[in-house]
Formats: sequence, structure tokens, C-alpha cells
Amino acid sequence: MTAPLTILEVKGLTKSYGAVRAVDSVDLHIDRGEILGLIGPNGSGKSTFFDCTTGLAEPDTGKVLLEGTEITNWPLNRIAREGRMLRSFQKTVVFKQLDVEENLVIAGQMFAFPSVASTFSFGRAARDRVAGLRRHARELIELTGLGHVAHMPAGNLSGGQQKLIQFASMLMPDPRLIMLDEPMAGINPKLIERVVDTIQYANREMGVSFLVIEHNIDVVTNLCSRAIVLDQGRKLCEGTPAEVIANKDVREAYLGG
Ligand code: ADP
Ligand code: MG
Repeated sequence: MTAPLTILEVKGLTKSYGAVRAVDSVDLHIDRGEILGLIGPNGSGKSTFFDCTTGLAEPDTGKVLLEGTEITNWPLNRIAREGRMLRSFQKTVVFKQLDVEENLVIAGQMFAFPSVASTFSFGRAARDRVAGLRRHARELIELTGLGHVAHMPAGNLSGGQQKLIQFASMLMPDPRLIMLDEPMAGINPKLIERVVDTIQYANREMGVSFLVIEHNIDVVTNLCSRAIVLDQGRKLCEGTPAEVIANKDVREAYLGG
């Protein structure tokens, strides 16, 4: 059987908080190998959409299918481990006391996708496994340009560098889909380039698909072949980044608040 073309499919997703319809009947699909952009003004429901598709919040209605398997209401851990779908948060989370390399090795151990061999590995097999993780960690550290700080405590590094650590950690377990919530927010232009390069590398060389929430339209244009715009919980439009920027409703949503 050939692998399905669509990696993630979301149908009619709705989530209210009290009187606020944070996400309102949203349909969305991500093709295998795609980098899809998700944009929209503050409060338009982007993060809630992530929460409801990655198991952090339960949608009121709607379905989430990952490679054809319904994962609606699976808990976050199960989606990460069995679904190999990972997400980042707007707030960066790293182990501050551990150095960069340890952060990555631990991420690889925590999220290692289950197999009998890894669950029951001990002695030599366990040592080989850790050595493999360490090799993979070093590759990703070089790729993200963190080689010169690999043995410094993560907490001593800049916010942008911590974002890179978090991102590299997500690549450790070889995921198939990563959702990034404003990965470029608050980091300097040089590091933005690094993050863009790393996303492109992971996409091209590791076959990882992405859904990226991003406000920087140049980044969206650079990274994404397609973007979806949310406004007040609803899908306002979708198309190529150029089509989306030119859309009258999109301009109004941003300017008219
Ligand atoms: P965005 O990420 O696009 O800025 P959010 O998904 O964070 O938007 O928020 C969409 C709407 O849902 C906002 O009105 C926000 O206040 C509301 N909201 C989001 N999460 C919660 C929550 N946990 N409790 C109550 N209201 C929430
Ligand atoms: Mg948000």
C-alpha cells in the first residue's frame, strides 16, 4: 500500500471558551512533505487550533486524522509517541541546568518512539542506543549553529538560542509532523535565518512536514507553498502566500482589527 498523500486532515474543528468561539468549523489538511503556514491576527484561534489537534484541549466538535487514523481526543503523549506529531509552544521550554547536548539526548530518550528493542534494551544495547542519540544530537547541534555552545548550560544562552535548542530537540526522535507556534517571535534576524534553514533541512532531508504559525510574512513566503488565514476562529482564506497577502479580506482583518 502506498502511504497516503495527506498527512493531517482536520474536519469541522470547533472549540469555544465560554461565549468565545476560539475555533469555528475549521477544515484543514497538510500534504506529506508540505510546509503549511497558519496566519491571522492575535486572538484569531491559531494556538487553540494547535491545542485541539495535538491533544492539549478537547475540541467541542470535529475530527482530526493523522495518516488516515482518527486521533481526535488522544492525549498529547500518545499523539507524540504513536503519531510522531510534535508541537512547540509560544513559550520556550528547555532544561536550563543541562547543557545543549544533554538537552537533545534527553529529548531523544523521552520521545523515543516505542519499539520492543528500545523498551527492553539494557547493558550494551542501551549504551549503543545512547551513543546513537549522542551522534544524532551532535549533527543537529552543528546544523542549528550551536556547536560553539554545545557544552554550555541551556539557561545561560539567549532566548533565540534556546528556541533553536527546543527545535533541535523536537527533531531528535525523527518525527513526521511538527507544529511550530510562532518559532521566530522575539529572535534576531540572523537566528531567524537559522531557524528557516533548519526547517527547510528537516523538511528536505528528514522528510518532516510542518504546520507553522508565523506573523513574519517574509518568512511565510520563504518557507511555505501554501498558507491559511484565520480570523475570529474562522478560516478566512487559503492560497499561496502571494495570493493570501493580496486578499482584500485578509488586509481588512489585519488593519480593521
Ligand atoms: P491566537 O493564537 O491566534 O492569538 P488563541 O487561540 O490564543 O489565538 O485565542 C483565541 C481566542 O480564544 C481568544 O479570544 C482567547 O482569549 C481565547 N482563549 C484561548 N485559550 C483560552 C483558554 N484556555 N481559556 C479561555 N479562553 C481562551
Ligand atoms: Mg497564539
